[in-house]
Amino acid sequence: IVMRIVFAGPPGAGKGTQAARLIERLAIPHISTGDMLRAAVKAGTPAGQEAEVYMKAGQLVPDSTVIAMAIDRIQENDAREGFMLDGFPRTREQAEALEAAMKEADLSLDAVILLEVDDALIVERITGRRTDPDTGTIYHMTFNPPPAEILDRLVQRSDDTAEACAARLSKYHQDTAPIIPFYEERSILRRVDGVGNPDDVTARLIEALG
Ligand code: AMP
Repeated sequence: IVMRIVFAGPPGAGKGTQAARLIERLAIPHISTGDMLRAAVKAGTPAGQEAEVYMKAGQLVPDSTVIAMAIDRIQENDAREGFMLDGFPRTREQAEALEAAMKEADLSLDAVILLEVDDALIVERITGRRTDPDTGTIYHMTFNPPPAEILDRLVQRSDDTAEACAARLSKYHQDTAPIIPFYEERSILRRVDGVGNPDDVTARLIEALG
């Protein structure tokens, strides 16, 4: 049974929304390096202060910082039986570091799920995305409109602007796409179509996870 999972795909493919749904069914922690970095920025830790500049610009945070953070996290107690990594690895170097760290513990990944969505649709999805800071719920102004009474408190992530979105997409193709052949070579890559209504996508993901 599949328990050590990487959830990959371009920014705005719906990984965050779908991971939250999947995790309700799987008794494993959802580990998002993006969430961890945002928490570090908010807390003003040294790593957070370093990361903030890159994140605002839609750039990747340096490998050394992110690798240490992710590898420490998967070694925590709640991740012993499994985990779902979301947004990590994002470079080939991160993929190699993850593999090496797991190998040392005699572990390996069971599956890498690649959620696929075209660039044009991603831009539309990302720029319309808003979060409710009180509940963490993610909305889309067109595709999943929030209730009128909470409009005032919704926030847009500073890296969800059109400019930062374009930068993140080009980074994805340049730096992250190389992890796809890396995992194909290990025969653990599973491609899932991320286009369509969220319930259909969830159903496809559940099927892909077996
Ligand atoms: P996300 O919430 O996954 O879209 O991540 C938001 C931002 O955090 C990204 O645009 C990067 O700046 C940074 N980030 C998250 N995960 C990584 C990673 N694995 N490697 C480098 N930067 C990351």
